[in-house]
Amino acid sequence: MNEKRFYNFLEKQILLLIGWSLLTGFGFTVLSMIYNVAKPALIWYGFIVLTSIWGWSLYRRFKYTRIEIDQLESWYQQVRLFIYVIFGLWTILFILYAEETTNNLHYVVVFIQVGASVIAATFLFSDKKIFVPILLILMYPLVVYFAMIQEAYGYFLAIYSVIFLGLLLHTSNNSYRLMQQIYHQAQHDPLTGLFNRRYFSDYLEQMLDSIISSKKFAYILLIDLDYFKTINDSLGHEIGDKLLIEVATRIEKFCEDTHLIARIGGDEFMMASYEFDDLADCMKKADVFSKKLLVAIKDTYIVDHHHLHISASIGIKQIGDKYLKANQVIKEADIAMYEVKAQGRDGIIDFNEILAKKVDNDLEVERRLYFALKSNEIELHYQPQVDQDQKIIGCEVLARWNNSELGLINPSEFIMIAEKTGLIIDLGNYILSEAFKTLKKWEKNCLELEQFSINISVRQFLHSSFVYQVEHLCNIYLNENARKKLLFEVTETLLAEDINKIVSIINELKRLGISISMDDFGTGYSSLNFLREIPIDELKIDRAFVSRLGESDSDKMMVSTIISLANIYDLSIVAEGVETGEQFRFLLEQGCGIFQGFYFSKPLGEEDFEIYMQRQNAIAKRIPLKKTSSNYIQAS
Ligand code: C2E
Ligand code: CA
Ligand code: CA
Repeated sequence: MNEKRFYNFLEKQILLLIGWSLLTGFGFTVLSMIYNVAKPALIWYGFIVLTSIWGWSLYRRFKYTRIEIDQLESWYQQVRLFIYVIFGLWTILFILYAEETTNNLHYVVVFIQVGASVIAATFLFSDKKIFVPILLILMYPLVVYFAMIQEAYGYFLAIYSVIFLGLLLHTSNNSYRLMQQIYHQAQHDPLTGLFNRRYFSDYLEQMLDSIISSKKFAYILLIDLDYFKTINDSLGHEIGDKLLIEVATRIEKFCEDTHLIARIGGDEFMMASYEFDDLADCMKKADVFSKKLLVAIKDTYIVDHHHLHISASIGIKQIGDKYLKANQVIKEADIAMYEVKAQGRDGIIDFNEILAKKVDNDLEVERRLYFALKSNEIELHYQPQVDQDQKIIGCEVLARWNNSELGLINPSEFIMIAEKTGLIIDLGNYILSEAFKTLKKWEKNCLELEQFSINISVRQFLHSSFVYQVEHLCNIYLNENARKKLLFEVTETLLAEDINKIVSIINELKRLGISISMDDFGTGYSSLNFLREIPIDELKIDRAFVSRLGESDSDKMMVSTIISLANIYDLSIVAEGVETGEQFRFLLEQGCGIFQGFYFSKPLGEEDFEIYMQRQNAIAKRIPLKKTSSNYIQAS
């Protein structure tokens, strides 16, 4: 058992054995002096003292110095020898004083011998290799001793001793098995039988110690399956579990004992490699190994007649170049793995300096963002949405961060960081309340908008207080008429979460009069199924498709398919990122209803939006529809 806790247990027993032997041995030696038969006892006690000193040094070596994994085995061998010797000495004492004499010390040693057996059975049950031979060493002389009396009571005691020995072996063995089972459960994942997270961290901690002191290198891999949740949701947890077992078995088979493998969460696995002498060699092997592993993972699985395919995102972290705690190593592998996810999944990334810098940068942005929120540096801009006659019918609220040092920062840079750190909850609430204030003002000033779209991030949407916050802000700022104009834009990544929960949140929002729009449609998690399941009101065609309309026929097909889909499900459809008249006309021909993009206007500040709206509506009334020049005005 390569397990520190096991050795810890043994280490404590050393002290108990030393204490018991020195005290009882001292008592017996005094007794032997009283009866004038002290000579053998004194010599014997000398050996006990020497053995105890040895035991003490073994104890100290374990407790106060850092023993490497490979040295643990030799330490353990010595402890085992120490235990044999100390119990062997007790048996010698028994042999020395077992002969029947007038001083009756033979009664004492018989009792001590029986007591020693019980002690061995209870103190040492954690290790079968120790307690079995020790019990035999202790009890065998007793059985012989009783048998040699050659009287009925002697035979009785001999037989009784054999039974007693059997019982002791049986109970120690039971305790041993139970302990093994508990250890196993504490270290393993019940579903796949692989090691669990706790074991992996402990193991890694030891491995890091040993690698640093022996100046070697190794790597760990963090493997996260892609879109595992879709399989779980669509085919059920039973199939999901079976697939996880299959993946685990495949990884295990592929590694052939070269790596320690653990399942550390739902669909996350970690592996630690063996040690390398050379860093370059280690990095190369990590690269080659993970590539092959990824190929192996992606091979078809057949689970209950389903042919399943799954890919994985793998983060690699090299260890040995500097000392890090296990948690830090796992975190860096995690960062690398998340980078794979961010780059579209199904890949491998090594944690490196660039990633480390990015993490530092994110931390810096996070720190500043926290203050930005407090000092009102977050502004809202509004991008007009127009109908087929280019009349403004709505807008999308877009956040901007205006920092005196960093300048104007785009949401793509800070929204994700706010999501990761949880700041999105406060930020999202702030955006909601500012946006509601604007809508209220515009309502009052009779700015005629049909819809008012606000982006909601996944974490914000799923937060337990989200609906409450929205309702609270609605009550403060918006009357029923204004609420009906609200549209919350969510992205397809939301669909990776629990569908029932999403639907119930949407229904709560609908109760308040709010509609839902599916943003960036067609880029991610699209499944036609959810269009039936989730009560959305609007689809937004992602601007990537719109921007390629001139170049690619497949994008044209995609756009017209999305538009027909929206028609089938009776959803309104918005094309975003419209930059040219050509794109606008194509979308118009396909039957798209609402348009948004630089062709009409960039996102504008609150006042600019008001001015723009008045101007545009006036123009739209005068100029015929098929105008080709851009109506674009520059954002201030
Ligand atoms: P999005 O929801 O897809 O927003 C549309 C993005 O496209 C905006 O970028 C907008 O400025 C840009 N855009 C609009 N028309 C055109 C065009 O014709 N051409 C091009 N190239 N781009 C156009 P922005 O403002 O940088 O926002 C980026 C993303 O940040 C948004 O993508 C949205 O996902 C997120 N975001 C923005 N504001 C918020 C917010 O208040 N809350 C949350 N949760 N996310 C937000
Ligand atoms: Ca949006
Ligand atoms: Ca979008």
